[in-house]
Amino acid sequence: MDSPASPLAAQAPQKAPINWPAAIMFPLTTLPVLTVLPWYLVTHEVSAAPWVWAFILLWLNGLGITAGYHRLWAHRTYSAHPALKWFLALFGGMAVQNSILIWAAMHRVHHKHVDHIDHDPYSAKRGFWYSHMGWMLRDYPSAQLDYSNAKDLLDDKVVMFQHRHYLWFAFGSNIVIPVALGFTYGDVWSFVLIAGFLRLVVNHHVTFFINSLAHMWGRQPYTTTNTARDNDFIALLTYGEGYHNYHHLFQMDYRNGIQWWHFDPTKWLIAACSWVGLSKDLKRVPNFKIQRAMLQAQFERAREKLLHSRTNPSRLTDLQHLLETEWQQFSQTVAEWSKLQGEKLDAAKLHMAERVHEAQHQLQERWEASEMKKKLATLERALEEALEMQRQRVALLRMQMAAA
Ligand SMILES: [Zn+2]
Ligand SMILES: [Zn+2]
Repeated sequence: MDSPASPLAAQAPQKAPINWPAAIMFPLTTLPVLTVLPWYLVTHEVSAAPWVWAFILLWLNGLGITAGYHRLWAHRTYSAHPALKWFLALFGGMAVQNSILIWAAMHRVHHKHVDHIDHDPYSAKRGFWYSHMGWMLRDYPSAQLDYSNAKDLLDDKVVMFQHRHYLWFAFGSNIVIPVALGFTYGDVWSFVLIAGFLRLVVNHHVTFFINSLAHMWGRQPYTTTNTARDNDFIALLTYGEGYHNYHHLFQMDYRNGIQWWHFDPTKWLIAACSWVGLSKDLKRVPNFKIQRAMLQAQFERAREKLLHSRTNPSRLTDLQHLLETEWQQFSQTVAEWSKLQGEKLDAAKLHMAERVHEAQHQLQERWEASEMKKKLATLERALEEALEMQRQRVALLRMQMAAA
């Protein structure tokens, strides 16, 4: 039996037009890697040099994107010396992921509208392929830009120079650097294929994983309000950007992996640069806020668990009561912390007002050394510890619920 044409199908929106530069560039770089390179490796003897240089350039491009495009320009998590900016603009540009201006403006939209089907330019809710690469292959309305969210970048000389001369940055670097290295080592084709094409394609996919896999695979210790995940394996591939759940909640932090054992070379690079004066004003989220977010996520999970629990009613009441007690204590600690923040601010203001005639930086130094500040910091640490202890208790409570 013939089924009538669906009225929905008749009204289906036309597919977005193809974005030809990307639709040509991706096959043009991927096909030689899948065809010419395997043949070349079988039929030619290749030294270690092109592989070593491919690895070095891969990391320079990756860090150009993560430390430069992402954490410096898109999120302003630190300030950089002009020398570092030029370095990041050059090697980030070599990664062929568009200019800093376009990349950062679009990334800010991603954070603002994360997961929204129509407004997030690479919404993971539209599937793996779309968030990985599909969004670049057509001119989707969700990827239209007006730079209204990137006014600070329009005033950045390095950003604007790279934007105006982007094709030189992208093509020039990808041709000149591998060919020049090839001439130096007397093996141009090996360098073009391995340090040129292969390095570019690998870097494309590992950084695209941050938009696709890092929104699909991993844990959510800080927030369940969006699809972003923390994943140590993805962090290994993405120069530390795999701690994406943390990053989506605390995008102003220069770190993505906050523990010392987290593999976050981008964080290490930014910190190392600050020791030699190439970066400064590194922003970190206060530990209390991080602990608070983790506990909130734990409470949400525990409540969800109890909601669907099939344990006997009296046991369920006990668990609910325990959870409620923990929640009340949590609310109290958070209220005390907020009050303390107010007191800190008032004390600092009073200190400044008392010494109106002193130079500003001297005042700042005195405040840093004052007894009042030390006392408030001790109180703050005690509240942080209280939250950490409570997080362990709630984790135990969740284990009891799992066993119930
Ligand atoms: Zn994301
Ligand atoms: Zn981001």
